[in-house]
Amino acid sequence: MTSNLMDIKEKIASAAENCGRPPKDITLVAVSKVHIVETILPVLESGQRVFGENRVQEAAQKWPALKNSFDGVKLHLIGPLQTNKVRQAVHLFDVIETVDRPKLARMLARIFEEEAKRCDIYIQVNTGHENQKAGILPDSADEFIALCRDDLKLEVRGLMCIPPFDHDSTPHFKLLKEIADRNNIKNLSMGMSGDFEKAIGNGATHVRVGTAIFGARPGY
Ligand SMILES: *Cc1c(COP(=O)(O)O)cnc(C)c1O
Repeated sequence: MTSNLMDIKEKIASAAENCGRPPKDITLVAVSKVHIVETILPVLESGQRVFGENRVQEAAQKWPALKNSFDGVKLHLIGPLQTNKVRQAVHLFDVIETVDRPKLARMLARIFEEEAKRCDIYIQVNTGHENQKAGILPDSADEFIALCRDDLKLEVRGLMCIPPFDHDSTPHFKLLKEIADRNNIKNLSMGMSGDFEKAIGNGATHVRVGTAIFGARPGY
């Protein structure tokens, strides 16, 4: 497992160097969803600090204790966020990558005020126009970003996408970068176990890697 981690970090570094980017510009988000604490511990012990979870409830069970034991842990929410879990998510997560609708953005703005605690937010874009997938549609992205920034005074730190399964992800990565560039957004969360090197070649600042670090997810 930790040898997987080292391997992925080397691959990230060479993918960055291959396109003339400093490796430190790319953050590895280790996706620990479904995995138990015993599986996550060795990865923490070998120095990894940024993790991704896709369910608020699961993260609430696993991470408060781990955050107490390890300094500097940053937790990213990479799964859909229901409005009734926003308050809990705001306390648990450092980055919410899946902001994708006005109702959720408004709720976040309100809860940031009420709790005097903020997370970084990324907007999820449904680059593949998939009905079953979360994310704002590409054509509505500029307007939604403006709503977040101008009306709700939310700082939009990044964009995130999950390209359709079994498609070439390159056009999706390029589309996400275009939307980010024209809106002056710095961070791009894109690329998973199968395509993180390609994502780095297309400007990813954050890659979300699960299986290649932790192995196959139990029950999948
Ligand atoms: C599970 C998940 C990942 C990690 O996928 P792997 O193929 O295991 O690397 C990345 N992003 C999101 C949004 C996920 O849900």
